[in-house]
Amino acid sequence: MLFNDIIGHRSLASGLQRSIAEGRLPHALLFLGPGGNGALPLARALATYVNCAQPGPDDACGLCPSCQKAAKSIHPDIHFSYPIVTIGSGAKSQQKHKSTDYIAEWRRFMADQPYGIYEDWMNLLDAESEDGTGNKQGNLPKEEILDIQRKLNLKTFEGAFKVLIMWLPEYLGNEGNRLLKLIEEPPDKTLFILVAEDADRVLPTILSRTQIVRVPRFSDETIAQALASRNGLGATEAAHVAAFAEGSYRRALESLEGGGAAVEASFLQWVDLVVRWQVLSLNAWLEEFQKMGREKQKHFFGYGLQWVRTCYLNALGVASGQESGAELLAPEGWERLAGDLEKSAYYLTRNAHARLVMMNLSLRFSRAIQERHLNRKQADFHNTFDAKGAGG
Ligand SMILES: [Zn+2]
Repeated sequence: MLFNDIIGHRSLASGLQRSIAEGRLPHALLFLGPGGNGALPLARALATYVNCAQPGPDDACGLCPSCQKAAKSIHPDIHFSYPIVTIGSGAKSQQKHKSTDYIAEWRRFMADQPYGIYEDWMNLLDAESEDGTGNKQGNLPKEEILDIQRKLNLKTFEGAFKVLIMWLPEYLGNEGNRLLKLIEEPPDKTLFILVAEDADRVLPTILSRTQIVRVPRFSDETIAQALASRNGLGATEAAHVAAFAEGSYRRALESLEGGGAAVEASFLQWVDLVVRWQVLSLNAWLEEFQKMGREKQKHFFGYGLQWVRTCYLNALGVASGQESGAELLAPEGWERLAGDLEKSAYYLTRNAHARLVMMNLSLRFSRAIQERHLNRKQADFHNTFDAKGAGG
């Protein structure tokens, strides 16, 4: 992973490069920000950069043996520490107590889902394990911290720095103090890069001993550009998916994989059919919705709720709109519709009949639109009447 491979964070990268050039890069950094924001790729790019044999001013060379090993997450001086599911029973060879016991899975995760979050990692472990990890929590156990200690005390093999990238120190639990001690008395030429999402779950003493680097969400423009250049989306569709990704490239990709764009188009089509009350087309649409599958239906409601909330804000006049439907309902109407959508999503998780749930929702939405229409007509009538009355 090079700085140039990351979809954004140019200024963060050059800030880090500047402090390296000026010899004032702290030995312990903590990248802090929400998941899917590229903090882990940034940590990997920095580890690659400090160990590159011929770094340029803006990035590592990407070609030297060090860069090539770093790219495959097999560099002997770049160590990763990440939450694991410990397995303490069974044959010795089956037991798992430290991060490297899952190194093959980790390398696959780094290669396939560089912007992945904790849940993605746990899902991968669950899918890879023979009987599934079930709902077991990941953690960074004592054995892992002892292993780090051992590895960081070795001489560097080939690089300039020994780097420890610890992903999600939130999962250290009681082992935080052990890590703290290591950070306070670092072995020679060691760089710690902690990547955290939630500062409240990291030991305050660790926060105070590390240089905190805030890694913000990606801007919608950054995500849209990446979707266009890397995922082949057209400009309009890219902007549309980006608008609902909340600054997470991972989330944008998830919505693509889940047939996100198609599901979102289907929601807007539903709104249109309800507004025009095209019963035959609506019936055909309900047939399709029934066949959509639970995951997509979940995405349908997630997207629908965001759409309704935007309309609500537009109707209140507090947000300038990307949604054109705001005038369909008054703010109270949008609030009620949001409630109805939430309820419908809930009924579906309880295995209610998808078609009936959506038919009911369509009727309620349609009625609300008509009421709004009548109220407006009445108001118009009174206004005209009052105006005439005043004039005559
Ligand atoms: Zn290099």
